[in-house]
Amino acid sequence: MRKLIVAGNWKMNKTLDEAVALVSEVVNMINDEVTGNVDVVLCPPSVYLSVLKQYIPAGGRISLGAQNCHEKASGAYTGEISAPMLQSLSVPYVILGHSERRQYFNETNEQLAAKVNIALENGLTPIFCCGESLDLRENGDYVGFVKDQLTASLFHLSAEQFANVVIAYEPIWAIGTGLTASSAQAQDMHFELRQHIAGQYGDEVAQNTTILYGGSANAANAAELFAQPDVDGGLIGGASLKSRDFTTVVKARQ
Ligand code: 13P
Repeated sequence: MRKLIVAGNWKMNKTLDEAVALVSEVVNMINDEVTGNVDVVLCPPSVYLSVLKQYIPAGGRISLGAQNCHEKASGAYTGEISAPMLQSLSVPYVILGHSERRQYFNETNEQLAAKVNIALENGLTPIFCCGESLDLRENGDYVGFVKDQLTASLFHLSAEQFANVVIAYEPIWAIGTGLTASSAQAQDMHFELRQHIAGQYGDEVAQNTTILYGGSANAANAAELFAQPDVDGGLIGGASLKSRDFTTVVKARQ
């Protein structure tokens, strides 16, 4: 049985006080209202990780993730954060290859392969993001493009290593636009990606791979998205910034 996960990507939002308030509310609501089998990953700005850790019950369903890490372990890379640093904070997850990182920080498939490697070497679970632009969706081989993102950054891994990777399909045209992929569009791509993974690693690994959907997922549409057989949860942006909305999304997955 693959893991069901709802992750919140806060992106570059919240002051410290707001971050503490949001985590406290989310912890309480999830504790009170969520009983099912779903893991929750909160990905605040990295500067808050060590503070917020104190507000999260150890050994429970909620854990922390970073939004990025550098591909080198240490060195003269001013302003960057390394995988060993995250490991030293006992942060279990790291988002890698978000389309905003690819677009605004020019992250390449090759660089992301190196980031995936160092994350795994340091015991982190990468939440590896992939997804196509609107132009590609309308005019190109968008399924092939997304499959190629997986091939280029992940398929050098052994099956054992790949088993520790979570995939997040985030069509760029759906991120922050209010334009969610329909549940059928999400299911179709998730199915294709699972087939692609099966082609490389076999059916058992593919069936055990968690594939999240991201892109304008919210309290109103989460249940329909999560009802699809290959949609194992969500990577939530805007709706993760409000405790009630985020908790409703988590409850839709349990
Ligand atoms: P939104 O949910 O705000 O569209 O963002 C999705 C996303 O990019 C999560 O990583």
